[in-house]
Amino acid sequence: MSKTQAVFAVLALLGLAALPHIWSNPYYVHLMVVIGIYAILLLGLDFVVGYVGEVSLGHAALFGVGAYTAGVLKFQLDAPFLLALPAGIAVTAVFGLLLALPALRVSGPYLAMVTLAFGTIVQILINEMTFLTNGPMGIALQKPMLLGHRLSGVDYYYVVMVALVLTLLLTQRLVKSHLGRAFEALRDSPVASDCMAVSVYRYKVYAFVISAAMAGLAGSLFTYSEEYISPDTYNFQLTVLFLLALIMGGRKTRTGPILGAIIVVMLPNVLADIDLFRRLTLIIVGLAVAYAVYGIASRRHAAAQMAVPLLFTIGLAVFAYRVSDIADYRLTIFGLLILFVVYYLPDGIMGFVRGTVAQYRPQWIHRHEIIQAAGSAQHVWAAPDRLVTAGNLLEARNVTMQFGGLKALDNVELIVAKGSVHGLIGPNGSGKSTMMNVLTGIYRPTAGEIEFGNKRITGMSPSAIAGAGIARTFQNVQLFGEMTAIENVLVGLHHTYRSNFLHVAFNTKHYRDEERVARMRAASLLQFVGLGNLANEEARNLPYGKQRLLEIARALALNPSLLLLDEPAAGLTAPDIKELIGMIEKIRDHGIAIVLIEHHMDVVMGISDIVSVLDFGHKIAEGEPAAVQADEKVIAAYLGGKSEQVA
Ligand code: ADP
Ligand code: MG
Repeated sequence: MSKTQAVFAVLALLGLAALPHIWSNPYYVHLMVVIGIYAILLLGLDFVVGYVGEVSLGHAALFGVGAYTAGVLKFQLDAPFLLALPAGIAVTAVFGLLLALPALRVSGPYLAMVTLAFGTIVQILINEMTFLTNGPMGIALQKPMLLGHRLSGVDYYYVVMVALVLTLLLTQRLVKSHLGRAFEALRDSPVASDCMAVSVYRYKVYAFVISAAMAGLAGSLFTYSEEYISPDTYNFQLTVLFLLALIMGGRKTRTGPILGAIIVVMLPNVLADIDLFRRLTLIIVGLAVAYAVYGIASRRHAAAQMAVPLLFTIGLAVFAYRVSDIADYRLTIFGLLILFVVYYLPDGIMGFVRGTVAQYRPQWIHRHEIIQAAGSAQHVWAAPDRLVTAGNLLEARNVTMQFGGLKALDNVELIVAKGSVHGLIGPNGSGKSTMMNVLTGIYRPTAGEIEFGNKRITGMSPSAIAGAGIARTFQNVQLFGEMTAIENVLVGLHHTYRSNFLHVAFNTKHYRDEERVARMRAASLLQFVGLGNLANEEARNLPYGKQRLLEIARALALNPSLLLLDEPAAGLTAPDIKELIGMIEKIRDHGIAIVLIEHHMDVVMGISDIVSVLDFGHKIAEGEPAAVQADEKVIAAYLGGKSEQVA
């Protein structure tokens, strides 16, 4: 944490502590408590929505599970508050796990459906299990006792704020850790995550359980803040409200969930008070006009681009002054706001603020950060040298891969010797990439056996195969776009971490050491591929050629004994290709075997020990480069394909 950040943090804490004395009206104090509770839930929801990139419609139910755990414990057993909170967290985490294990086998709309069904079931169960939950009658209770003293509304505010601050701290640590990077990576590219030995399914479940635990904490706090719980609170509307709050506030930030919570809690109050609403619309119009004028004057935005949002905000203000009562329009206004956010602020309000700040930030700050990151790399990456003994590293025999009626691979044998460079060529559509996908477990071959290092890997999951030492790059670049270059490589280094959730939560020395070492390794890998000065650039902003190099660095981070490169020279400039050849040679010199798919014949023929040629899924030739180049079948295949030339 920098000095400025520390000062901000202290000021924010002081502000939080002072709030209930500034707005001492119990109604306001209660609103702030609800905001704090929602913020805790939203911080958790962001793991699923913002980081993993899935939509959960089950979070109101999880919130309800937490609330009812605390409520039932009090109602049935008169359990103390300090037991209710951890119990609420634990029980909800278990529910989250039970939901996640089957649900996360599917994703997208299917996951939304499964979580929605879960929500409905939970609500029905709470309603029907009267012996436990008191059914539709609900459970009434009082503010908790703590240290022999019944907490007042303000006391309880402090309890919730402590919980919120701890949740913030935990969230911040998690998202900055290897766990957070795993969550983020699997959203940006699930295939690449799996191929970096970060199991998509496992980390999705992990994120979901963390998210559920936070919903459980929020729920159990909610029980005591409301002093009454009943089943109909935890309904579909609440789930949607949570999602909207997060999307409006801005995903993948800490401030977004807080802002989102403030908005959804305050909005009904604002809409109930027409004068307040009118003044607020004026402020919004003022902000929008200022932004538009500045944006147009500095030529960052075209006038046309600004017109719709401006008209919208002005329209809202005009509307506010024309109607006398907006209570009836509540849902409409809410809906319009949502549309507005989705269209104009896809990254939410905080995402918009961040983006704007970053745009106007002087360039030198950015450069300074990059130099800092690169400076930590004292030496350029060197793989631990492998003693290359004779023999085969990979043996794929009789591999057939059938897609419907098409045999993309037909009874192909590919044998890669230890420490060799094995070229794999063939016209477009001949099955080269398919071979790579079969070798890395993305496709399960229709028939055939694959042995790697004398171990059968056919049928193993991509992440297990990656863990066994096969790394790869992709023909269609598969980077983690929203993550920086160095973070991409750090995902490849995920396997070097032994720290778990608790190490991260308590920021132990063990974990910090692992992180430090991993960052150094990542920085030197970036230097190795010539991206040392782009460490802090988001991967999606890199030029295409550099993205390919970054993929190589990330693959090497896996510390593989076999590296599969799928057209690494595509999109590279001539000098870059030269460097790439040097890199491949260096990698080979460290004893890492390479399978190289490449259309640039000079590259393949120059460095391959053996070249195999595929055509329509058949292996038509194999041997030393010179012999293959002279092979008539090969020449015919390429001329038939018309797209390539054997140089
Ligand atoms: P190459 O990498 O040699 O250009 P590919 O391995 O990508 O070729 O493709 C080989 C053939 O398999 C092509 O005809 C392609 O359309 C087909 N193919 C590849 N993947 C799939 C898939 N997932 N489903 C159906 N057909 C596929
Ligand atoms: Mg291909």
